[in-house]
Amino acid sequence: MKSLSVLSRCGLVVAVLLLCGEVAAQRKTYNVEDLPQVPLDTLPTDRPGVKIITYTNNTWRYLLTDYSARANQKVFQDHWVTSGVFAYRDVHLSDVPETMEIKLIDNLGDYHPPVLGRVSSRYGPRGRGMHKGIDIGLPVGEPIYATFEGKVRYARYNSGGYGYLVILRHPNGLETYYGHLCKLNVSANDYVVAGQVIGYGGNTGRSRGPHLHFEVRYADLTFDPERIIDFSTGDLKYHTFVLERGYFNVSSKLTEALEEDDDMEGIFTDKNGEPLTSEEIVSNLEKAAAKPRPTVNDAIYYKVKSGDNLSKIAAKYGTTVGNICRLNGIKSSSPIRPGQRLRVK
Ligand SMILES: [Zn+2]
Repeated sequence: MKSLSVLSRCGLVVAVLLLCGEVAAQRKTYNVEDLPQVPLDTLPTDRPGVKIITYTNNTWRYLLTDYSARANQKVFQDHWVTSGVFAYRDVHLSDVPETMEIKLIDNLGDYHPPVLGRVSSRYGPRGRGMHKGIDIGLPVGEPIYATFEGKVRYARYNSGGYGYLVILRHPNGLETYYGHLCKLNVSANDYVVAGQVIGYGGNTGRSRGPHLHFEVRYADLTFDPERIIDFSTGDLKYHTFVLERGYFNVSSKLTEALEEDDDMEGIFTDKNGEPLTSEEIVSNLEKAAAKPRPTVNDAIYYKVKSGDNLSKIAAKYGTTVGNICRLNGIKSSSPIRPGQRLRVK
């Protein structure tokens, strides 16, 4: 068998030589990856803290050489707040460009999913409020990874509902939030690389069961993390992503608090708040993941006029009083007043 394969390889080489003549005779017949890869030299680049390293086998790659230079980039100086969740209070939606090309990763870059697990709640309208991120069920203590390289802007206990929270700012200006952690593994102003363990998943803050609450923001404005990450596989969807102003949720800047628990009921606990068995939790998580995803555009609001009552409004929008009550967290007996904004769909 060995001699046969040598023979056939010789045959191939002869055929190539015959076909290409002189050119083939000059061409090297080895593969680059078979050669020893020994670092040869480093070359400067115009990017802070980044050099190019060249190897003896004619290959090269980018090299992060100086984290302090990376961490001192302008993006980590402007609007840098380590004590609060929001850092861009003076930046409004209208200040944000209509579209922005965001490089998620480049040759330097790495990406790592924050955690792999079942999505228990997606981004979008939920109950009375707005779910600003995506929830991924996990066992307490599961390592949570930095999705991209960046600088830790916030790493502390948040009493607004996030529990132990890490906020990373990335060189492209995006920020990622990791909430309900049981333990932090980084401090504010640390510089982290993609895939570094920044903390451990837990159940702290306004949370009814162990899960990661993960958000992606630009200038404090949220958009759906599923636009860039496929959470069923953990894969990043794009290297470069076009972020449109229309993706942002306008209400995401209204409060720093996290209203998390709305539909956790029925997943980790039953309707009476009693804990469920792990089989029941897994089955509930599967059901939640199979649910069609809500979109922001589905919501319709109605301003109550004088003389209105719930049944009149329900009839007008082809819905029921029960549905309106559920969407607004009110009882059918609750009084409504003119000017009040009610969600009807
Ligand atoms: Zn959440």
